[in-house]
Amino acid sequence: MKPPPFEYFSPTSVDECLTLLAEHGEDAKLLAGGQSLVPLMNLRLAAPEVLIDLNGVDELARIDRDDGELVIGAMTRHRDVASSELVREACPLLAEAAALIGYPAIRNRGTMGGSLSHADPAAELPCVTTTLDAEMVVVGPGGRRSIPARDFFAGHFTTVLEPSELLLEVRFPAHGGGPGWSFHEFSRKSGDFALVAVAVQLPGDGASAGLAIGVGGVGDRPWRADAAEGLLAGGQRGDELLQQAADAVGAQAREHGEGHADNDYRGHVAATLARRAFATALERTGR
Ligand SMILES: Cc1cc2nc3c(=O)[nH]c(=O)nc-3n(C[C@H](O)[C@H](O)[C@H](O)COP(=O)(O)OP(=O)(O)OC[C@H]3O[C@@H](n4cnc5c(N)ncnc54)[C@H](O)[C@@H]3O)c2cc1C
Repeated sequence: MKPPPFEYFSPTSVDECLTLLAEHGEDAKLLAGGQSLVPLMNLRLAAPEVLIDLNGVDELARIDRDDGELVIGAMTRHRDVASSELVREACPLLAEAAALIGYPAIRNRGTMGGSLSHADPAAELPCVTTTLDAEMVVVGPGGRRSIPARDFFAGHFTTVLEPSELLLEVRFPAHGGGPGWSFHEFSRKSGDFALVAVAVQLPGDGASAGLAIGVGGVGDRPWRADAAEGLLAGGQRGDELLQQAADAVGAQAREHGEGHADNDYRGHVAATLARRAFATALERTGR
């Protein structure tokens, strides 16, 4: 099926994009990798009158280190995030999650900015940005603003981005060789969206800096497993405590009334993934 007709623009700078967004308002959509937007248009679930193609805006595709942060431009492809030495070194959890997105064809085209703006609650990158307390840097007619990941997702396929704004880049704290990390997900078949995903940054025995546990696929947006984080904040890593923390992840997942499975099943899967993620992360701290 073909999409309905639209007017097409191919700007080469962010300023040009903002002018076009201001001119066309809610009739316009930004086109990044097209891996979510184009299928929606083909199915007539989206019918923008104007497409503003970001693929010619070179300044949006970058992976850099800046003042202790890892900076990923909105037009950076999933493939490049997954394979970047810099990302693997500064933020290995992000590289591990990006490698799990869809299939090679999807990762070759899909982008960081597209995935985050599309805000599928089951997608890997929203879960990782929430886990790592990333900052979304957004630009619009009023200039730039920075939005913490936990405030960026507003519900199913919804963010706090205004129609006149675009996501410029995402800033991740660079943890490097700090805590152990692990991203575990369960999907019906390899390459599918996660039914449940658990992202973990776990410092070793006696440490708590960088501790973070995030869950995706359960509820209308990713969330942090606060109760489990509280249990592990003291720095103890005994098997019994880790099991209690995994159960706490499962209990919190059961409270979320939405997703592709019933609450008990989802809670069980979340606890199992959390247990596995803790074990992998701890192993990576060298314990
Ligand atoms: C078969 C298939 C399997 C997939 N499996 C997975 C999976 O397992 N996990 C997963 O996470 N994803 C999966 N995806 C989706 C994929 O990751 C997409 O890359 C992603 O959802 C959208 O990124 P995109 O660059 O293609 O954005 P597009 O489809 O071009 O755009 C998506 C939305 O974001 C907006 N947008 C794009 N860039 C910006 C920006 N810079 N600022 C503001 N708004 C912007 C667009 O206007 C549009 O509304 C799958 C897709 C397909 C087709």
